Amino acid sequence: MTRIAMVGAGLSAVSACDALRGGGYDGEIVLLSDEAGPPYDRPPLSKDVLTGSAATRGDIALRPADWYEKQRVELRPGIAVTALRPDEGVLELADGSELTADRIVLATGGTARTLPVPGADDPAVHTLRTWAEAERLRARLVPGARIAVIGAGLIGAETAAVATALGCAVTLIDPVPVPLTAVVGPDIAGALHARHRAEGIDVITGGVERIDRAPGTEEVTVTVGGRPEPVAADTVVVGIGIRPATALAEAAGLTVDNGIVVDVAQRTSHPRVYAVGDVARRSGDPVRHEHWDAARSSGQAAAAGLLGAAPPARSASWFWSDRYGSRLEGVGSMADAEETVVRGDVASGAFTVFGLRASVLIAAAAIDRPKDIKAAQRLIARAVPVRADRLTDPATELRALLRG
Ligand SMILES: Cc1cc2nc3c(=O)[nH]c(=O)nc-3n(C[C@H](O)[C@H](O)[C@H](O)COP(=O)(O)OP(=O)(O)OC[C@H]3O[C@@H](n4cnc5c(N)ncnc54)[C@H](O)[C@@H]3O)c2cc1C
Repeated sequence: MTRIAMVGAGLSAVSACDALRGGGYDGEIVLLSDEAGPPYDRPPLSKDVLTGSAATRGDIALRPADWYEKQRVELRPGIAVTALRPDEGVLELADGSELTADRIVLATGGTARTLPVPGADDPAVHTLRTWAEAERLRARLVPGARIAVIGAGLIGAETAAVATALGCAVTLIDPVPVPLTAVVGPDIAGALHARHRAEGIDVITGGVERIDRAPGTEEVTVTVGGRPEPVAADTVVVGIGIRPATALAEAAGLTVDNGIVVDVAQRTSHPRVYAVGDVARRSGDPVRHEHWDAARSSGQAAAAGLLGAAPPARSASWFWSDRYGSRLEGVGSMADAEETVVRGDVASGAFTVFGLRASVLIAAAAIDRPKDIKAAQRLIARAVPVRADRLTDPATELRALLRG
């Protein structure tokens, strides 16, 4: 194998490059990105970039500027791949040229979903997936600005929290009364959502029906089902998830079903093509894991596959999210738990929920309890039987439960 081409230069692709070189791959690596400039990390976009504490692209770079040369990774930013011919190993590029590679890794991530309602294309309506979008939004978050955030999932909630801290008047709109319940369980989801009101955010439950702008004004109004008065705003932020960027794969005839379907080594239905990160879904997994750690580890798994090595042991999906100075973490699949139990004091705001199935820990979510999550990761990996009353007993050292 002499050349591997990566389409997309986000975390999953850069992790794959790292792991290929770490695993001894000596051939060419070409990293193609339709975004300008060097690869950057996305989690800070809704955190330090919006607050302004990360002011330049360099502040959130995925790797130091000299890393690409040192690792002999040919970075080609600002050029989109427009088509893929897998049988020939050919990528067609937006400038009309073609690139041939022995193996191709699709790491195209996704784009922010837009609202399917009238007025969703108004210039006051923002989404948050890229540096360019974050820069545009940051300029709007000035003291006194009225910000309507649609969607109270992870990114919407982070954006609402930052906007409030910056002195904006924030309205947070979501169709469900307690968002994230399926992901972190009702106790944690309830505590997180209640915090928005406690911080002075106007929280509204309802579906958005339309966005209007009075001609010649800067103001838009957001009409929410079941509410007599629309919400007036200077800026609207839509945080309702992503659409995986599967167009290339679909046009090339690869199997796509809620993401590009891959095996444990991230191989797609075509032997020459791999897929990693947010755009990929492991065959047998009901969901795509659109999180930082999943992107990193899928890049490593693809590198192992490309090198003919066994894929690294797979750990339960882990994510974090920051709001109001607190850190939420989740591991495993809470939606599959038969029973949930709480450790710690809910009233204090810092507590953990464990999810069990057939007396085995399969998930945990916590606010500001990183040690519980670390222990939960190990317990989930070992799948040792645990008693619910031992998990909840503050006297129990969670590490001790690893011994069964
Ligand atoms: C605002 C924000 C905050 C987040 N916060 C957290 C967090 O706190 N915790 C957490 O666990 N996760 C978080 N995430 C999720 C995490 O950042 C993503 O899961 C991760 O970045 C996915 O990496 P990726 O490599 O799959 O895709 P991406 O980072 O999206 O990279 C894909 C790249 O491919 C490019 N591309 C697409 N199509 C083409 C093409 N045809 N040709 C060339 N290039 C192409 C795209 O432009 C993009 O640059 C956050 C994400 C966002 C957007």
